[in-house]
Amino acid sequence: MGKIENFRKVMALPEVIQNVELTNKLKDVYTDYLELLDENKELKGKLKESEEISNIKRNAKIYSGFYTLADVKDFDGEEIPFCLNCLYEHGKQIPMLFGVVESGLQDLMTGRVFRDNTYGYKCNKCGTKIAITTNKKGEK
Ligand SMILES: [Zn+2]
Repeated sequence: MGKIENFRKVMALPEVIQNVELTNKLKDVYTDYLELLDENKELKGKLKESEEISNIKRNAKIYSGFYTLADVKDFDGEEIPFCLNCLYEHGKQIPMLFGVVESGLQDLMTGRVFRDNTYGYKCNKCGTKIAITTNKKGEK
C-alpha cells in the first residue's frame, strides 16, 4: 500500500510532528481518504453487478413471468427458469423452483377431487408463482 506509506512519511516529517494542528488535520484528511476508498470499492462492486444484470437482460429468453439463459442448464440439460420480476424489480438473478404453486381441493369424506394440485415455478424471493399447464415436468 504505497498510499499508506506516503501518509506515514508525511506524518513523520519534523514540520508535521511539531505542529499538533497540522497533525490532526492530516489525520482527518486521511480518515476521509479511507472512507472514499471504501465508497469507491462499494460503487465499483455495484457497477459490476449492474453490468452483469444488463448482460442478463440482453441475453435472456423471456417467457411469461420467467426467463432462461442459453448457457445456464440443470443436470438434465434443461435451461433453468429465473424470475423475471426479480430481474427488473430488484436487479437480481433468482432461480425459480418447480413445485406445487396451488394446493388442490379434495372432499375428505368421499375423496372426490374438486381441483388438482397446480404445479409450476415459484420464486422464493418475491413470491411470484407461475402455473405450468403442460405435463412436461408434472410427474412428481
Ligand atoms: Zn422473484
